[in-house]
Amino acid sequence: MDPDSKLESLAERLGADFYGVADLGPVLGTVVEQGGNVVAGYHRAVSVGIKMVGEIVDMLPRREEPSVAARYMHHCYDVINYKLDNMTSRLATELRSAGHAALPVPASKRYDDELIRAIFSNKMAARLAGLGWIGRSCLLVTPEVGPRVRWAAVLTDAPLEATGAPEPERCGDCEECVSICPVGAFTGRAFTEGEPREARFDARACERYLTGLRSCDARGVCGLCVYVCPHGRTAAPDAD
Ligand code: SF4
Ligand code: SF4
Repeated sequence: MDPDSKLESLAERLGADFYGVADLGPVLGTVVEQGGNVVAGYHRAVSVGIKMVGEIVDMLPRREEPSVAARYMHHCYDVINYKLDNMTSRLATELRSAGHAALPVPASKRYDDELIRAIFSNKMAARLAGLGWIGRSCLLVTPEVGPRVRWAAVLTDAPLEATGAPEPERCGDCEECVSICPVGAFTGRAFTEGEPREARFDARACERYLTGLRSCDARGVCGLCVYVCPHGRTAAPDAD
């Protein structure tokens, strides 16, 4: 089996619903600007994603109920993040044993509190690998289940074959995520390559809202921008 197929098969065995390889060459400047020299030597990112439990995402309009919030946090964050981090650790080990450098990027780990971002954008890797597009919600939207996916990645210097070009954006005239956000965190601007996230998303407003929720109840969650996207939504929108 060739190294690309071997890695993909391993990811599938470990539970990946989405797998792709991104060529970071054209975006190395952005990658280094975000993550610094520690991420500079990698020209490929292996992108992996696991679907959230759709039935639980559909409950989010009732997120103030403790049982709904607890289910969402557990099954759509903790369990999936743990599986993804295990997966990227195993994939990195596989790459290193074949003689390549490999750095796993956690599913959800912020390194820059001021800018509210991680060392590397897992969503950028998934987009470049051809797995979806960046919606008005700044989430990676897949054709299969919309934004109901959590992502992680492995940065590597292995000569893996890139899996595809970015999907064309399919938000069209939709603005459902913009309308539903309780703090108006989205400007409604469509994603444009190279434009700073701040032009589309006020991450601090979202963070303040979540912090406020959690000061009342540690299980506070939102996720309405994930819930409402018509790509992946199976239930009719809740009137809440
Ligand atoms: S999680 Fe909630 S508050 Fe944050 S951006 Fe999405 S809809 Fe807005
Ligand atoms: S809710 Fe609509 S505008 Fe927002 S990401 Fe989904 S398709 Fe795009």
